[in-house]
Amino acid sequence: DDQERQEVWSNIEDALLNDHIDQFRAEFLELHPYDQARIFEGLEVDVRMQIYTYLSPEEVADVMEHIDYEDIEPFFSEMDPRFAAQVFAEMSTDDAVDIFNELDKDKVASFLTIMDNEAAQEIKDLLHYEEKTAGSIMTTEFVVVKANMTIKQAMVHLRTEAPDAETIYYTYVIDEDKRLVGVISLRDLIISEEDWMISDVMNERVVSVSVGEDQEEVARMVRDYDFLALPVVDFQNHLLGIITVDDIMDVMEEEASDDYSKLAAVSDVDSPDENAFA
Ligand code: ATP
Ligand code: MG
Repeated sequence: DDQERQEVWSNIEDALLNDHIDQFRAEFLELHPYDQARIFEGLEVDVRMQIYTYLSPEEVADVMEHIDYEDIEPFFSEMDPRFAAQVFAEMSTDDAVDIFNELDKDKVASFLTIMDNEAAQEIKDLLHYEEKTAGSIMTTEFVVVKANMTIKQAMVHLRTEAPDAETIYYTYVIDEDKRLVGVISLRDLIISEEDWMISDVMNERVVSVSVGEDQEEVARMVRDYDFLALPVVDFQNHLLGIITVDDIMDVMEEEASDDYSKLAAVSDVDSPDENAFA
């Protein structure tokens, strides 16, 4: 509630004023990144500069993921470029791409040069997909296993991948050519015996979307099938990314406001006299 919020804020302010890094971290990191972002947005530039030195790139990435990407440019510009590049590398690739689409091309190029190669390449690949397609909203942090692994091997692998995966609820099964051949839910994994094979447990009828699919159609499929995520494939069924249900909620909001603008435009033509209803 409000009083609690006020108390948290005054503790954080106090920590910042007195340079108490540990106190700041204890109070700030306790908050949900959404609330961290709301506090962060309200601060003066010198206080934000202070915060960049108190938090890791990963912790700042969590905050940035909850700031509107239209408003985010100043924050990345004021950060040390190396630090900014590390923050980008720690973000979900789909969020990093949304932000890169807002920055000017020179800036994007310079961030990509500083960034480590693997992270830079994943983002570069995603920047090529056309706006409002499955490819433009997917993320590349998914978990895959091979069909000839045992459940036990898959669980060990899942544990190492879990910290960075967008979702661990579905593990996708790929063949040697990275083609999507199956899917297995966390529930399926947990209730299976350790020595069973993935191929025995996986669901082979995988519902997927192609990378060029319209985002509105993807949203419809997520709604109809009730999955928490959908895999995205190319024409040869190579697994390229996943789209999770939280990204779909953003799409539905965007499409609804697009439709609303279209409606408003149409009614403008019909009734040029704006004061007609006044
Ligand atoms: P259930 O609700 O049936 O008990 P669950 O809770 O484990 O299953 P859900 O998210 O409801 O998981 O998914 C239902 C089933 O759909 C799981 O067995 C999962 O492996 C499978 N599944 C997940 N994604 C896909 C997909 N893209 N195509 C086909 N099946 C999928
Ligand atoms: Mg279920």
